[in-house]
Amino acid sequence: MKISMVNLQAEYPELKDEVEQAVKKIFEKSNFVLGEEMENFEKEFARFCQTKYAAGVASGTDAIRIALMACGIKNGDEVITTPFTFIATVEAIRHAGATPVFADIIGKTYNIDPAQIEKKITSRTKALLPVHLYGHPAEMEPILETARKHKLFVIEDCAQSCSAKYKTGGAWKYVGSLGDCGAFSFFPAKNLGCFGDGGAITTDNREIYEKILTIRNHGQTKRYHSEIDGFNSRLDTLQAAVLSIKLKRLGQWTERRNRIAEAYNRLLKDTAAVPVANPNARHSFNYYTICFADKDTREDVQKHLLANGIACQIYYPISAHLQKAMEYLGYKKGDLPVAEDLQDRILSLPMSPKLLDEEIRVITDEVKHAVKLCVKKG
Ligand SMILES: *Cc1c(COP(=O)(O)O)cnc(C)c1O
Repeated sequence: MKISMVNLQAEYPELKDEVEQAVKKIFEKSNFVLGEEMENFEKEFARFCQTKYAAGVASGTDAIRIALMACGIKNGDEVITTPFTFIATVEAIRHAGATPVFADIIGKTYNIDPAQIEKKITSRTKALLPVHLYGHPAEMEPILETARKHKLFVIEDCAQSCSAKYKTGGAWKYVGSLGDCGAFSFFPAKNLGCFGDGGAITTDNREIYEKILTIRNHGQTKRYHSEIDGFNSRLDTLQAAVLSIKLKRLGQWTERRNRIAEAYNRLLKDTAAVPVANPNARHSFNYYTICFADKDTREDVQKHLLANGIACQIYYPISAHLQKAMEYLGYKKGDLPVAEDLQDRILSLPMSPKLLDEEIRVITDEVKHAVKLCVKKG
């Protein structure tokens, strides 16, 4: 049996008729850039996230970068983020001209540790950029409290967490509606993925929203009048039409991801550390990640799964502060011990709404088998 990380092909039959109709209509109208389907999707997406505004952009990386720029982050500013993320989070900070500053994570949820953020704040700090990694919301309450105290912007990296929720002040809120801006990626493998690259920014702030619209379209407030520095980063009309079709299914698909995670947890809880959600968090399980006792076990399990046709991935094997591209920041091994320890022990298993119960059984059997072989080897 061959099992991939994300089975996108299994999703298509259910979407086919609607997608082909929508795409045909756009081909006929040829309104490929900033078309009405994009505006429709933006409205639907804002409604879904329970924010006043949503703006489509070309990718999740651009969403973070434009959100930072729209909040006025510029050269010389510092933005505090997690080292335990996809490198795009950090690239976006650099491309906005600012300096990334890393705060270590909480081992339990793999997300940035609010207590470590406090220690990294300087007079140059302008924004906090928590990532809701794997789909588990970061500790937003203390993060927002710190931001209020120090007058900092909060931009949520929601690339892996579309449809995740966080309970604050007694109310459940969608990620992307908690900070000043939420940055989303619609890369195909995300919770809400399009058929190529895409992204969006959510916000309740009209001024920030208008700045986002300007920046994503060459800084123009009207055609050929560039008011501020911008670039080209728009969500294609075609992708927006696909996203509207998939958004209707997102709630149901997130439910299924949660059911899959429960099954995985039940079958693997004696074999590895399984993901735990905080009581005030509703996980979106973009990825299902387990953690082994040591690096050798992780490597043996990984090899065993791959040899048996089961995909698995390490998200991510090198924390951002140890990446070669980040050398100029001056971090060294030992600076962020929790992230450095976990990067060596984590492994993500196949996860997508169409994963079958039978596949879950095969995957977990093979994981358990590989760990047993490891123990025997001693
Ligand atoms: C995917 C991802 C991004 C970047 O999104 P793209 O659409 O690929 O540019 C940013 N941050 C995180 C945490 C991601 O997983």
